[in-house]
Amino acid sequence: MRDIETTPGEESPYECFECGNIIVAENNPGRCPDCGEPMRNRQMPLE
Ligand SMILES: [Zn+2]
Repeated sequence: MRDIETTPGEESPYECFECGNIIVAENNPGRCPDCGEPMRNRQMPLE
């Protein structure tokens, strides 16, 4: 269950693919606080 490799201590966006909720955190928040679905790391292009 590996997603994208992340740098520890660096914040990255996690997106709920169920409701589209986005949380920016250092670590995977686990589950969406809104709908309870798993959050996934979202590789956001800088430009
Ligand atoms: Zn959600």
